[in-house]
Amino acid sequence: MASWITALLDSAVGRWCGVPQATLLQRPDGETQYFTGSLLLCGKASEYSVLLRQQLSDLAAVSLEDKAQPLQALIFDATQLQSTSELDMLWQQLTPLLPRLTKNGRLIVLARAIDDVSSADAAAAAAALSGFTRSIAKELGRFGTTANLLTVHTDVRQELLPVVEFFLSRASAYVTGQVLPVSTAPVTVVNRQQQPLQGKTALVTGAARGIGAAIAKTLTEQGATVIGLDIPQAAQALTDLMQQLAGKALLLDISQTQSAETLSDWLTQQGIQLDILVHNAGITRDKLFHRMTEVQWTQTLDINLRAVQRINTLLLERNQIQHNGRVLLLSSMNGLAGQKGQTNYASSKAALIGYCQFMAKQSVKGITFNAIAPGFIETQMTAAMPVMVKEVGRRMNSLHQAGLPDDVALAVAFFARPDASGLNGSVLRVCGQCFIGA
Ligand code: NAD
Repeated sequence: MASWITALLDSAVGRWCGVPQATLLQRPDGETQYFTGSLLLCGKASEYSVLLRQQLSDLAAVSLEDKAQPLQALIFDATQLQSTSELDMLWQQLTPLLPRLTKNGRLIVLARAIDDVSSADAAAAAAALSGFTRSIAKELGRFGTTANLLTVHTDVRQELLPVVEFFLSRASAYVTGQVLPVSTAPVTVVNRQQQPLQGKTALVTGAARGIGAAIAKTLTEQGATVIGLDIPQAAQALTDLMQQLAGKALLLDISQTQSAETLSDWLTQQGIQLDILVHNAGITRDKLFHRMTEVQWTQTLDINLRAVQRINTLLLERNQIQHNGRVLLLSSMNGLAGQKGQTNYASSKAALIGYCQFMAKQSVKGITFNAIAPGFIETQMTAAMPVMVKEVGRRMNSLHQAGLPDDVALAVAFFARPDASGLNGSVLRVCGQCFIGA
């Protein structure tokens, strides 16, 4: 809720004091899931952009007209850059094109994965693109425009379009300055006439409120049947939400030592196998390390990390996650960057990333593991922060505003799609390119 301090900082006084002002982000309006508008493919044509041109031109809502004015999106194909001398192409092509981008525009840069290049010169050129994209994202943020880099592995084909579509769409409004690797994997093409998660069953932990409630709603809107799990104290909120979503509620404290068995047995009784498992439940117990009690330390690690490990181990062992399932882990920007007073929380959230990357490599039954690291998101967890800390948290990112639970939920739904199989072991920050740990 906006305080008088927020209003003051957003006013002429705030502008006069140099407080960065935000552009209102265009988020999905319920109907528009996919990108619509004019898009220009530029850079150095490769098999990737040739395929994308063909796939995108089949979509009636996308215009690939070179002379389009203004442009809603630009895709710069840099996958064929073999040498640092070719980096001048970025300046030559993009300086005249970027002013044609509308507010809330999109820039996607495609690069070769560094592991796949064949010379030091090509590796340097590929790496330069991350510095470029992260910097241009900081310049474009004040217009609500995002810039992201996709690094593609050799032989990636059908895996690329769904990822490009997410970064073009309004669903990625709060995702900018990110680098996401796309790998080869068998892709199940999603029928655009139906909901992307049609027929899928998802379990969301910590679903009674905040980000978890938004994830449960978004997955339901995209066709999934949702089981919401939360602690018994949250019974009312959880059952109300699950009734509204025609889902099922499960009251369980995941920090209990028997919680994995209880969950697994409940799934068996209900005859449910999961397609999507979202580990969202999390707590903070902030204190400077030398003042932190053992309970504050262990409780945070138990809920945020060890419960996740125990649940996954048992559900995998008992085959309760389907082939090509999707496991999503809610990490945090503070897990990547570290935060004073959060040694317990940051340890747990960083651990989730290491765990996710290891599990992704196991490729058990085609199940993917990915982590989402939210930045400052407006929820009850962040509402509890002191006012000025909150104001700094909101504004210290390239888009100069806080994210909403729906921003995180839409990213989760994107990774949960059957055609997102090219993403495995990745960490996506949904943080407006927060300056902390960037
Ligand atoms: P929140 O506190 O609003 O909601 C967390 C939910 O988890 C609550 O419904 C709570 O009852 C449930 N929960 C807590 N302990 C549980 C347990 N033992 N068993 C079952 N359920 C339990 O938090 P949020 O802001 O919505 O955050 C959701 C996730 O996103 C967390 O993992 C958090 O660490 C992460 N995150 C949030 C932010 C942010 O800015 N809000 C930023 C980074 C990461």
